[in-house]
Amino acid sequence: MINHIFKKIRDAMRGRESRTFLETPAGVSWTYAAMEALSARYASALAGLGLKPGGRVAAQVEKSPEALMLYLGAIRAGAVFLPLNPAYTSTELDYFLGDAEPTILVCDPSRRDGLAPVAARAGVRSLETLSADGQGSLPDRSATCPPDFSDVPRGPDDLAALLYTSGTTGRSKGAMLTHGNLASNAEVLASFWRFSPDDVLLHALPIFHTHGLFVAINTLLLSGGKILFMAKFDPGLCLALMPRATTMMGVPTFYSRLLQHKDLSRERTAHMRLFISGSAPLLEETRRTWFERTGHAILERYGMTEANMITSNPYDGERRAGTVGLPLPGIAVRIAEPDTGAVIAEGKTGVIEVNGPNVFKGYWRNPEKTAQEFRSDGFFITGDLGKIDSEGYVHILGRAKDLIISGGFNVYPKEVETEIDALAGVAESAVIGLPHSDFGEAVVAVVVPVPGVSLDEQSVQDTLAKRLAKFKLPKCVIFVDDVPRNAMGKVQKNLLRETFKDLFVARAPV
Ligand code: AMP
Repeated sequence: MINHIFKKIRDAMRGRESRTFLETPAGVSWTYAAMEALSARYASALAGLGLKPGGRVAAQVEKSPEALMLYLGAIRAGAVFLPLNPAYTSTELDYFLGDAEPTILVCDPSRRDGLAPVAARAGVRSLETLSADGQGSLPDRSATCPPDFSDVPRGPDDLAALLYTSGTTGRSKGAMLTHGNLASNAEVLASFWRFSPDDVLLHALPIFHTHGLFVAINTLLLSGGKILFMAKFDPGLCLALMPRATTMMGVPTFYSRLLQHKDLSRERTAHMRLFISGSAPLLEETRRTWFERTGHAILERYGMTEANMITSNPYDGERRAGTVGLPLPGIAVRIAEPDTGAVIAEGKTGVIEVNGPNVFKGYWRNPEKTAQEFRSDGFFITGDLGKIDSEGYVHILGRAKDLIISGGFNVYPKEVETEIDALAGVAESAVIGLPHSDFGEAVVAVVVPVPGVSLDEQSVQDTLAKRLAKFKLPKCVIFVDDVPRNAMGKVQKNLLRETFKDLFVARAPV
């Protein structure tokens, strides 16, 4: 048996070992041969620390090329890689480590002392460090290890990664992703999006999440292209590097921030062949203005931690606004009745379900939750609400948990948001349900006006009244400067619901 995903990476780089794999804005570059040697050293170092095949390697580190080597080294050593957002506190780490019980934890040197007791409680065997500039005890250790390593055999069904879901609602759960999940999805994406060794990917996403780590890095590795590796998203730097790139993957906020930058132009983006967006809905306004300023139609795709990428707008065909495109090759998508699982007819709204080699193996040490989230025929219930139109394009209408039931009627927030976003002077909106004594839940719109524009509640409500059924109309419109987002640009509706929860609650008389 071979190491399933790393064997594919090796095959893709064969004959191209001397080509550049990664380059930083500071001009440091690494060849594919260097990547192979360095990841071998990391794999040896991890094995030397007592890591056994199937053991977990948790990494709460800043984004750096060395952090990527740690990921690849962990895979080659047969580990299950567990990346953690550097923003998590020690209390949050306590939960993740206690649940995952990693053999090794790698953290930033500045956090070592604070995390030592947390790691000890979780039975972590080695606590190692790696800083943003690639220094620390783990790189020191790997420098003493040989540049070749006999990869630990792993099959398609063996675990490669444990990714905790972003947890905008409820407690975060560990999604078990196999070598087969990651490799099959990267192969599909590389071919669907036409990646080749000539591609240069502008990489500004975090690498603790499926988007920046698997969608971006694995796809690029299986195509043999080059990565322009930014430590974090910075619109000015992104635009300065863009003439050297061919593709970019981003969350919608990348595009809206780039649109605010004076340097964004047709000339700057002339060399680009593809802009991809995902992780959160791309606003129509962003899509349209991007096209006007650059001549490029952003390709929107849809995926999630548990299922990798599920659908994508086509490369050649119509990239349809407001949709996330068609199911990717080899992946089945259907819409079902949330409670019964009965498959729903075309054009009707229900929960999106998915099946294919991309779908994860289940939640870590949580067979009950896993059983709840799968249908008996193997389809995974995504929890996203949507519909499929007559041409097979998938439309997302919100999360099942965000569905508002007002006076017994179902209100899909996305439908109301789309109408509000189309109003002049609106930058974006988030529609939520708030407890209401009469209706159960009341529809409430939280609206961000375009800077400098002042909108009034009555005129928003009057315009919507002409376009939406009465039960869908917001009972109240709240204007804010900004809506809260998580690290991947997703609007945190749970925080909005919390902030405004008492809006309709009758106050007790004093
Ligand atoms: P995560 O597991 O953090 O990647 O979050 C996955 C969730 O992000 C999905 O279940 C969707 O709710 C949302 N999502 C991802 N891509 C899109 C998209 N293009 N449009 C709307 N929502 C999206």
